[in-house]
Amino acid sequence: MLDQAVTPERILHDYQRLTLDDKFTFRCGGDLDCFTNCCRDVAIVLTPYDVLRLKKARRLDSTEFLEKYTLPLLNSQQLFPVVILRMDPETKKCPFVAERGCEVYADRPWACRMYPLGVAAPQNPTSADRPFYFVVEEELCHGHGRGPARPVREWIVEQGIEAYEMMGTPFQELTLHDFWSRGTALTPQQVEMFYMACYDLDRFRRFVFDSRFLALFEVDEARVEALRSDDEELLDFGVQWLRFSLFGEKTMKIRREIVEARQQAAAEAGTTVA
Ligand code: SF4
Ligand code: SF4
Repeated sequence: MLDQAVTPERILHDYQRLTLDDKFTFRCGGDLDCFTNCCRDVAIVLTPYDVLRLKKARRLDSTEFLEKYTLPLLNSQQLFPVVILRMDPETKKCPFVAERGCEVYADRPWACRMYPLGVAAPQNPTSADRPFYFVVEEELCHGHGRGPARPVREWIVEQGIEAYEMMGTPFQELTLHDFWSRGTALTPQQVEMFYMACYDLDRFRRFVFDSRFLALFEVDEARVEALRSDDEELLDFGVQWLRFSLFGEKTMKIRREIVEARQQAAAEAGTTVA
């Protein structure tokens, strides 16, 4: 939800760095003349957990939700897919803003919950240069300096951000993986895998259950059952599968009979299997 003048360089060099215990003074509410000003003409990047919550709130299949409300892009380094909320092309308003406020308030995205706070992480954090919070002050927003001064920690709890951070951690680790620092571009097929496993969860579920996926990988029965209906579990599983498929990590186990069949085929062909 940041305007374009708020560049990563400005944040790192010019903004006051807040810890969880530092206080800031801000109040938002329907009584302010800026009410919903912040819900138009903004680039809101949705995390996989945002998409999961929003598609449930709208009672839509993930594919339908993504088609109707989002735009797919590549991240700023052009390495992996991200999705942003699609603003109305004419009014530039968020599709979920109404006169009385946000229609998906209970499931609003992480960025909307955080605003006007941002969080920044130096590329190579050290003990002296750690992730920090900062306050974004934009002309359109008149909530600054109102209400009591409150610690960042209190805002995080009040806005229900903890669940988003907990569910967001595996995805964040995926996107901060060393693999990306090599600048290796994903193939179109890998981009599609990433998009499906992170954002298009209902399609990923069909892929897991309707393809040879479960004949190839060893997944314990309780987890298979959970994957049928539990989106959070499926998202976690999808990230695990991406780490296996993209980074070659041992986060998934190929069934022994498949490995043996491959070894035998390789032996017959005079090659080896890793
Ligand atoms: S999701 Fe809700 S809070 Fe976020 S921009 Fe849209 S209307 Fe505003
Ligand atoms: S512009 Fe600021 S104070 Fe006004 S509704 Fe949006 S977040 Fe709240």
